[in-house]
Amino acid sequence: MKSHYPTYCAGAAPGLVHKLGGLPWGLPIAHWPVCKECGRAMSFLAQVPGQSADDNAPELPIPAGEVLFAFKCEWDSICSFWESDGGANAVFSLPRTALGDGPTAPPEHAEDGFPELIPELGVAHWRTDDDGAPAELEADFYDYGRHDDLPDEIAHPHDWATEWRTKFGGVPYWTANGAQGVPPGRLLLQIDNCVPMQEGGYSEVANFCSDGTAYIFIDNAQTPPGYSMLINR
Ligand SMILES: [Zn+2]
Repeated sequence: MKSHYPTYCAGAAPGLVHKLGGLPWGLPIAHWPVCKECGRAMSFLAQVPGQSADDNAPELPIPAGEVLFAFKCEWDSICSFWESDGGANAVFSLPRTALGDGPTAPPEHAEDGFPELIPELGVAHWRTDDDGAPAELEADFYDYGRHDDLPDEIAHPHDWATEWRTKFGGVPYWTANGAQGVPPGRLLLQIDNCVPMQEGGYSEVANFCSDGTAYIFIDNAQTPPGYSMLINR
């Protein structure tokens, strides 16, 4: 299935661009999520516009005119940020009209200060490619047993090479643990713990259980759509 694979660069342009880390653009501070486990502000992970000024960027199936924001708890690595329903990560979208016109700094915790800032990475270019999954097998990628029964060249082609593990669209490129704990919906994007950089080499994104991958899903059976994030390794 058609997928869009980004290559990153250090730093991102201002505005509602695709990026990882840094500060979210225009997010009203009241929307900055607090971890339900530890009660402290989460770290900003990703900003994903549904439509982008960059013609090479994918158009995403989120409500028109909205921008997706993803956060996770990075405090002390003790909260269950890998769980899709644990309250230690957060994914939501907001209309552009609800957003401000500058970067939003995180709220400060009275005792512990500011949450960890995830290094800012912008998208240098996009590669569109087939992820190797025939469309008729899409549903199998959301079922642990059926995914496990797929031939290796369909379930995880390219031997888990980093270049294939951060992508938008298509089916989930699961880690070696397979399709475990999958929330409802379909994959919007996934972010590997290491992403390829424009100048060569890789950059570490955040704590995804050391070498895991973060998967972000959209559930269009709900109105408005529901979002969730799962981290697997
Ligand atoms: Zn926490």
